[in-house]
Amino acid sequence: MNSFRKIAFGYSTQCNIKCGHCVAADDDQKKAKMDLARARAIVSEMASAHVKGISFTAGEPLLFLNDIVELLEVCKKNGIYSRVVTNGFWAETPRCTDDIVSELKTAGLAQLRISYSRWHQKHVDRENIVSAAQSSKKLGLDYFISFVTDFSKQDAPHEQYHIPGVPVISTAPRCLPIIPPTDAT
Ligand code: SF4
Repeated sequence: MNSFRKIAFGYSTQCNIKCGHCVAADDDQKKAKMDLARARAIVSEMASAHVKGISFTAGEPLLFLNDIVELLEVCKKNGIYSRVVTNGFWAETPRCTDDIVSELKTAGLAQLRISYSRWHQKHVDRENIVSAAQSSKKLGLDYFISFVTDFSKQDAPHEQYHIPGVPVISTAPRCLPIIPPTDAT
């Protein structure tokens, strides 16, 4: 039996934006959200099944902030490393950004992954990305910016946008990011 398991957890298929590469942006996609009690039970079952890392990912998890906070608390209680993948739509002012980052950290979030790409930034101001990163840094929450790219020339202006001191990791377009093995240590 694999004693070191990690899963991607799609709490809903809903997103507030439409990235061209994502199934969550498909108009034909049924918009659904998991029942919270059921989701809590699944996370507990995952702990029993030796899952050590859960990445809450597409759709946009933080459309359901209160629910995700509860699920993070279940992860924390069960010793599960947790990550939230977000487009950063919520990071509109420094104060509300700090409040949300603080709430996530208190709930037990281990890492915030903030998505950045030519697709995402058609809908979300890049200053939101900076704000989410800076708030995470200030409040001591592990984080990184995930630069989603297909390595085309269209991405050149985005690649040249560096934020001093902020870790950026390039990834290929995909909808369900997976926790790298080193993240769940
Ligand atoms: S990639 Fe993320 S932000 Fe973009 S549509 Fe899909 S879930 Fe939403």
